[in-house]
Amino acid sequence: MIIHELMASECGEILRRMSFGRLACARFNQPYIVPIFFYFDADANRLYSFSTVGRKIEWMRENPKVCVEVEEIADQFHWTTIVITGRYLEVSNAAEAQAARQRAQELFQRRTQWWLPGGANLASGAEHEEPVIYSILIDAMSGRRAARPV
Ligand SMILES: Cc1cc2nc3c(=O)[nH]c(=O)nc-3n(C[C@H](O)[C@H](O)[C@H](O)COP(=O)(O)OP(=O)(O)OC[C@H]3O[C@@H](n4cnc5c(N)ncnc54)[C@H](O)[C@@H]3O)c2cc1C
Repeated sequence: MIIHELMASECGEILRRMSFGRLACARFNQPYIVPIFFYFDADANRLYSFSTVGRKIEWMRENPKVCVEVEEIADQFHWTTIVITGRYLEVSNAAEAQAARQRAQELFQRRTQWWLPGGANLASGAEHEEPVIYSILIDAMSGRRAARPV
């Protein structure tokens, strides 16, 4: 099996067609990782996502350094993975964030019911009330692809 390193342009192509990844954040030396949907904005070099306030948002507000992993795995010999390190930036309701909010909304509309599952309530009855639009500004990105020689 040979593992190829991807160029930034190849990583970008994958991020454009993918919308599922794993978001890792950390607080007090404790990592925390959850699956999320994201939307890649190539021009702004960032991922957008939607959530309600819960543990990950609270942690990212305290420590904005995050990691996102995106993967396409066919089997152990054929896979592509991307690892991004970046910074959490909340898109506020302020007038100066209008352009970012609008861009996020445009990207979100590409998926029906884009607010789910980020905006879903828990069966236990615990409600998450505060919706949050945020972006991950990409600081560094690497991609690897495995292929078995035929
Ligand atoms: C395919 C997929 C796509 C998703 N897309 C999004 C998205 O775009 N935006 C979004 O906000 N959420 C999304 N989710 C849900 C997300 O993974 C989290 O479950 C959710 O956001 C709650 O995270 P929180 O940190 O606010 O947890 P809280 O509601 O604050 O709860 C924290 C507690 O719940 C546990 N917990 C939280 N999430 C999970 C989980 N998934 N599995 C097991 N235990 C968990 C934690 O360990 C912790 O104990 C998606 C889930 C899946 C499977």
